[in-house]
Amino acid sequence: MAVTPPYELKLLYSREQIAAVVTDLSARISRDFEGRDLLVIGVLKGSFIFLSDLVRELSIPVEIDFIGTSSYGNATTSSGHIRITAEPTSSLAGRHILIVEDIVDTGLCIEAIVEYLSKRDPASVSVCTLMNKPARHQVPVEIAYTGFTIPDKFVVGYGLDFSQRYRHLPEIFTLEEKTDAGQLASDD
Ligand code: 5GP
Ligand code: MG
Ligand code: MG
Repeated sequence: MAVTPPYELKLLYSREQIAAVVTDLSARISRDFEGRDLLVIGVLKGSFIFLSDLVRELSIPVEIDFIGTSSYGNATTSSGHIRITAEPTSSLAGRHILIVEDIVDTGLCIEAIVEYLSKRDPASVSVCTLMNKPARHQVPVEIAYTGFTIPDKFVVGYGLDFSQRYRHLPEIFTLEEKTDAGQLASDD
């Protein structure tokens, strides 16, 4: 795969590895929410492929909605001020909500989403993330379902972007920048 220097893509997880993890998460979620009215809320845009694969393997009925966020601050540091840019349109009161996220990095985004949803009187709010970078957390986050626990590397593919590129790739890659790694973070 051609990547313009100074970036380099290295395969981290194959299609088969991702599929195995998604199957396992779907089975656990189906078991845990059996008999409940589950509302899955995907975090735009990065979760769209993960969510699509995950819900198609659930053995329980589910409703699907989305939420969007953006963070204030400059390109290299997360300001900690997260804004909800797209609100779910579903009624949230009394619902069992599962937030589906691509990756938890600092945890600030998921913290803001949990806070936003919790204020709307849901029956429960749980988090499912495809990837988690525990070494980067700045706030405590409770994650019920984690696909991969990964080191502090910037990853792309399977929905995740670098400047809106690489989301379409079916595998997950690390993207290594040879100059300033701090420029890589983005909100979605
Ligand atoms: P947070 O720092 O709030 O936990 O992460 C916010 C968002 O930044 C994530 O949901 C994701 O969209 C993006 N992000 C964090 N780490 C990475 C990464 O390694 N690769 C990509 N492509 N996006 C990331
Ligand atoms: Mg992004
Ligand atoms: Mg995300």
